[in-house]
Amino acid sequence: MIQKIKGTMDILPNETPLFRYIEGVMREEAEKYGYGEIRTPTIENTELFVRGVGDTTDVVQKEMYTFADRDDGASISLRPEGTASVVRALIENGKYSDTMPLKYYYIISCFRHEKPQAGRSREFFQFGTEMFGSESPASDATAISLAAAVIRRLGLKNVTLHINSIGCKECRPAYRSALVSYFESHKAKLCDNCKNRLDKNPLRLLDCKNPDCQIIAKDAPKTTEHLCSECESKFDMLKRSLDAMGIEYVVDSSIVRGLDYYTGAVFEFIAEGIGAQSTVCGGGRYDGLVESLGGPKLSGIGFGMGLTRIILAMKEQGLDVIAAPPVSLYVAALGERAMVKALEITERQRRDGKICECDIVGRSLKAQMKYANKIGAQYTLIIGDSEIDAGRAQLRNMQDGTQTEVELDNFTI
Ligand code: ATP
Ligand code: MG
Repeated sequence: MIQKIKGTMDILPNETPLFRYIEGVMREEAEKYGYGEIRTPTIENTELFVRGVGDTTDVVQKEMYTFADRDDGASISLRPEGTASVVRALIENGKYSDTMPLKYYYIISCFRHEKPQAGRSREFFQFGTEMFGSESPASDATAISLAAAVIRRLGLKNVTLHINSIGCKECRPAYRSALVSYFESHKAKLCDNCKNRLDKNPLRLLDCKNPDCQIIAKDAPKTTEHLCSECESKFDMLKRSLDAMGIEYVVDSSIVRGLDYYTGAVFEFIAEGIGAQSTVCGGGRYDGLVESLGGPKLSGIGFGMGLTRIILAMKEQGLDVIAAPPVSLYVAALGERAMVKALEITERQRRDGKICECDIVGRSLKAQMKYANKIGAQYTLIIGDSEIDAGRAQLRNMQDGTQTEVELDNFTI
């Protein structure tokens, strides 16, 4: 038996209504804020992620699915995240000359070769949003409020917003050297990966998943203590904006995000009760990304929200039961003539917008009635040769068992 690839999942029809419900909420909320849907390819040149996500990140160093193109051997990767592709599309389609801000959202699957566990898979689904062309913390607050709106509308409780600022080009160098000297003094206890990237990208050490590194990272210098006055006043305005919007948050210096492109405000929504993979949404500003991918100087702010983790939290809180739309009619048919008539009747109902089914298996009446119950049909119409000859049949109300006689010609429920 051929099995699915480790870390991927089949989502069967009993689970898709929940996915579709959540996706519907995400789309509706994004569109309320004026975001439009963007669809980009699943595969991109590997170079896009190396430059966009960063060559010292775990995602690029260890987790990408990369292969050589059959044409020319060029290196291609399955997207590990959505932002780099959106930025590429923005540049490639010349969107930077449109009126600002530009607002895009997407619901995509991403691929990372990680260790599969609850809330962490190798193909995962993500609702992402990107906004370009505003440097104001008002845009940070808008993006955060969109993520908060989705979480609120899904009814999730016990999800906390953590915010931080990781500084800009101005304040990063001083912070960087404070970090390097701190970690240098603990170098012996760091994992090999962190030892290697200590000089290249010390911020990554704050995001290492190795327990020993995490203990050391806990007491590392905090970004918020090294912000330049502009970053500080921006962070302050973000906090005031969230206060004004009634969005609760905690300032958390451990939030640094795992991808290199982040600058300034960063945030995560963390859910209680779903285990170690508790970040249901993460995002932040990436003011240098468009430029570093060959576009003009254009600031950006976005987030990614993991659908599987949202679902874990909804299950944990008993919010995962989504009622399927009701089946209006089941037509039970006995014999071939009746089966054809049943097809005619159900076809008419469907053209009229109703959900209905009829027997296409050729089962006994008893088995058909059992099936009608299973699919939750509101009414069942029972037809055989004699009903067709008479042009009349019994319509049974499945709720109370009452029957009424109806004419078959042009019958609609
Ligand atoms: P984590 O720290 O949990 O690994 P991340 O910072 O790598 O997350 P992002 O790249 O910011 O994650 O992706 C945005 C969101 O996508 C995450 O907050 C999470 O909800 C979800 N996500 C990321 N990686 C996975 C995965 N392997 N499986 C399931 N969901 C994921
Ligand atoms: Mg990760």
